Amino acid sequence: MRYAIIGAGLAGLTAAVEIHRRDPDAQIDVYEAADRIGGKLFTAPFESGPTDVGAEAFLARNSEAREFFDSLGLAESVVYPSGLASALYSGGELQLLPQNTVMGIPGTSAPVAHLVSDETRMRIDAEEAAEPLNWVVGEDRSVGDLVRRRYGDEIADRTVSALLGGVYSCSADDLGVRATIPALAEALDQLVLSNKHTTLSAAIKIMLSARPAPVGEPQPVFGAFRGGYAELYEALAEESGADIYLDAFVSAVTRTPDGFRVTGGEDATYDKVLLATPAPTTALLLKSLAPDASQTLKSVKLANSVVVAMKFDSAEGLPDYSGVLVAADEPDVHAKAFTFSSKKWPHLAERGGALVRASFGRFGDQIALTTDEDTLVDWALDDLQAITGFDGREAGLSEILTQRWFGGLPCYDADHVATVEKFRSELAAVAGVEATGAWADGVGVPAVIADARAAAARLLGDNQLGGIQP
Ligand SMILES: Cc1cc2nc3c(=O)[nH]c(=O)nc-3n(C[C@H](O)[C@H](O)[C@H](O)COP(=O)(O)OP(=O)(O)OC[C@H]3O[C@@H](n4cnc5c(N)ncnc54)[C@H](O)[C@@H]3O)c2cc1C
Repeated sequence: MRYAIIGAGLAGLTAAVEIHRRDPDAQIDVYEAADRIGGKLFTAPFESGPTDVGAEAFLARNSEAREFFDSLGLAESVVYPSGLASALYSGGELQLLPQNTVMGIPGTSAPVAHLVSDETRMRIDAEEAAEPLNWVVGEDRSVGDLVRRRYGDEIADRTVSALLGGVYSCSADDLGVRATIPALAEALDQLVLSNKHTTLSAAIKIMLSARPAPVGEPQPVFGAFRGGYAELYEALAEESGADIYLDAFVSAVTRTPDGFRVTGGEDATYDKVLLATPAPTTALLLKSLAPDASQTLKSVKLANSVVVAMKFDSAEGLPDYSGVLVAADEPDVHAKAFTFSSKKWPHLAERGGALVRASFGRFGDQIALTTDEDTLVDWALDDLQAITGFDGREAGLSEILTQRWFGGLPCYDADHVATVEKFRSELAAVAGVEATGAWADGVGVPAVIADARAAAARLLGDNQLGGIQP
C-alpha cells in the first residue's frame, strides 16, 4: 500500500509513525514545502545550545503523549520546569498570576482582587444572584462576550485574554467557550439541564470544586525535551521509515482510476492520502476531492505571531519568574508575553547567562506581517526593561533570532467545534483520504499527536487506537 502524507509538521510525522507501526510494509512518502521538517516545532542551533523558537513545552499530565514519547526512546530526554511562578503585567506592575481561576475566570472576586477595580470586584460577587445567563445547551459563544457581559471588561482583558492568548494567539473575543474551555461549556450545560440558576460564577465554582485536591508531591504540569523539540521531530522522522521530501510544495491532490495523484514533489500516485497541513491549505488541497469539506474548512482562520529569542551574557536583575503574561489592555507594551526560559528550565540555566523569549502578535493584528526585525528586537528589549527593570542591552545580547510564524495557530472561535464536526462528516464520505492538524482537536502538542494517530488509524480502516508497539 502506498501512502502520501502532505506536511512534515508534528501531525504529519506522527501520522507517518502510526501508519508504519500498523502496516510495516507500507510505503510512505511525506511531502514538506519547507526546507526542514517540524513545522511549528523548530529548535534553532544557537551557539549556546539548541533553542526552541516555536513550541517550547508540552502538557506533561497527558499520559498518552508521554507513552508515545517513551515509545520513541525519548523517556530520558524529557525535562521538567523549575517550578517558578509566572507573573502578569497589569496596571503597570508585575503581579502574581491569579490562582483558583479557570483560564483567568474567577468564581469570586478573591483571586483577582489585586488586579481589578472595586466596581469589578462587586460585579463578580453579585453575578451569581443576577439575572440568569441565557445559555442554550450545546451552543458556543465567544469567551470575551460571555466574560464581558457577566464580569466586565477588566477580567476579559487582564486575565482571560492574557492566559488564553498565551495558548491561542487570540484575544478572548475571538475564541469560543466550548472550543477552548470545553469543561466550562459543559458546566453551563449542566446548570441549564438541571434547572439551576445559570450563571458564570456558579459554573466556575462547579469546575473549581471538581478539581482533585493535591496528593503528595506536586507533579509538574509541563515538560520539554533537553535538546529541544528537534529530539521529537527527528525521532519521529527516523521511526516512521518514510521517505521525506523537503522543498516539496504540493499544489493539488486529484483522483485517478487507481488512486490519488499528488502534484508537486514526486508527482506520484498513491492508494491513500493524509493531509497534515494548516486548515486553509487542507481546504485548498481538498477542493476537487471533497468540495463540501473543503468549503467548510475554509472558514478556519489563522493567527500570526513572532518569537524573538534572546541570549544574554548576564542574568543579573532578571526577576525570579518563569515568565510574564501581559494584560491585553496594557498601554505602551507591544509584547504579549515573555518566557524567561533559563529561569523556567533548569537545563537551560546550566548554559549560564539568561535566555528570554518575547512573543508578539494576536489574531487580527499586523505585527508579524509588517514590523521589521530591528523594531521587533527594540520592542522586545524596551518592553522587557519596562516590565522587569532588566536592561538587556547592558546585560550583553550575545545571540538573537527572530522567528515569524505566519498562520502560526488556528483560531478556535465560537463556530470551531461545529465546523470541525461538519468537516469530519463531509470528509468521511471520501474513502482513502484523511486530514489532521492543529486545527482539528486542540493546538497543544499532545492533542495534535492524538488527532494525528486517530486520523492514521481511520485511514487504515482501523478505528481502534491500539497500544504503542515500540
Ligand atoms: C509560536 C508558537 C508557540 C507554541 N508553543 C507551544 C507550546 O509551548 N506547547 C504546545 O503544546 N504547543 C505549542 N504550540 C502549538 C504547536 O506547536 C502546534 O499546534 C503544532 O506544532 C502544529 O503541528 P501541525 O503538524 O498541525 O502543523 P504545522 O507545524 O504547521 O505543520 C504543517 C506542515 O505542513 C507544511 N505544508 C504546508 N503547506 C504545504 C504544502 N502545500 N505542501 C507541502 N507541505 C506543506 C508546512 O510547511 C508545515 O511544515 C505553539 C505554536 C506556535 C506557533
